Amino acid sequence: VEEINNVSLEYVRSFEFDSKLMPSTWIVVRIDGCHFHRFSEIHEFAKPNDDRALNLMNSCAVAILEKFWEDVVFAYGVSDEYSFILNKNSNLYQRRANKIISAIVSYFTSTYVMRWKDFFAQSELKYPPSFDGRAVCYPSTEIIRDYLSWRQVDCHINNQYNSCFWKLVASRKSKREAQNSLKGAQLQKKIEELAIDYNKLPIMYRQGSSIYREKVDNVLMHQENEESTECYGKVIVEHIDIIGPTFWLEHPNILDE
Ligand code: ATP
Ligand code: ATP
Ligand code: MG
Ligand code: MG
Ligand code: MG
Ligand code: MG
Ligand code: MG
Repeated sequence: VEEINNVSLEYVRSFEFDSKLMPSTWIVVRIDGCHFHRFSEIHEFAKPNDDRALNLMNSCAVAILEKFWEDVVFAYGVSDEYSFILNKNSNLYQRRANKIISAIVSYFTSTYVMRWKDFFAQSELKYPPSFDGRAVCYPSTEIIRDYLSWRQVDCHINNQYNSCFWKLVASRKSKREAQNSLKGAQLQKKIEELAIDYNKLPIMYRQGSSIYREKVDNVLMHQENEESTECYGKVIVEHIDIIGPTFWLEHPNILDE
């Protein structure tokens, strides 16, 4: 025990506040790029959707599912954000919020930096990107599905808005003019007015990216090395509707307790 003049310094630990996430709830850790409006301009992202940037985000999220393979069961990402869902029964870091958030956000960020050149071969990383993170507990499967629906609806609305905005800018409108013409506008009507073939846009832009582990049946699992992540199936990235019931009916194991 550390001591100075016979006084134990151990008491300072009692100032630490270690909040634990509620047991038996789904934990969502959502990370979001800090000031990516600026980051995307400085690194000349294509607007409104840069494929390289989206694929880099997806690659980092896959790395999270691989590293935290016992705990993270699903991830959904769009733009500069990703949501990671931890199993209801996860005991990662004894559910200590600070540990969970900081471990995920720092692993994501360092992977983003390490893999930058794999996606942006022609442009150098000009300054260190950072992400913030938060954790929220959701008590039921219905609510976790509503959470994911909320993010996917957000993806759709933002993508409609951004498609209109950048189409206006491409037609020699200033950013301010574009913004004003979209203020309070019905986006669906604007898309028609501007002759945007919305449904022809890549599905990744319209639906975001969903990541999960392919189910491997039990027989196969026991043939594999029990210790390896292999037996939990390959991590896959898809661009699908996660609002309707179909995906969840076809993958009942993902949000299985
Ligand atoms: P904050 O630090 O508060 O999150 P922010 O500038 O990151 O601020 P967001 O609301 O997170 O604001 O928006 C992220 C911004 O990053 C988008 O508005 C968009 O301009 C840009 N961006 C992120 N990903 C891409 C991408 N793949 N292609 C083009 N632009 C992108
Ligand atoms: P945890 O993930 O729980 O933090 P840990 O292995 O990081 O586990 P720590 O108590 O944080 O454990 O200790 C950090 C360890 O890293 C030290 O015990 C030491 O072995 C090593 N280490 C860190 N910095 C240095 C350094 N500058 N030189 C040599 N070893 C170092
Ligand atoms: Mg933010
Ligand atoms: Mg951001
Ligand atoms: Mg964002
Ligand atoms: Mg240490
Ligand atoms: Mg340490």
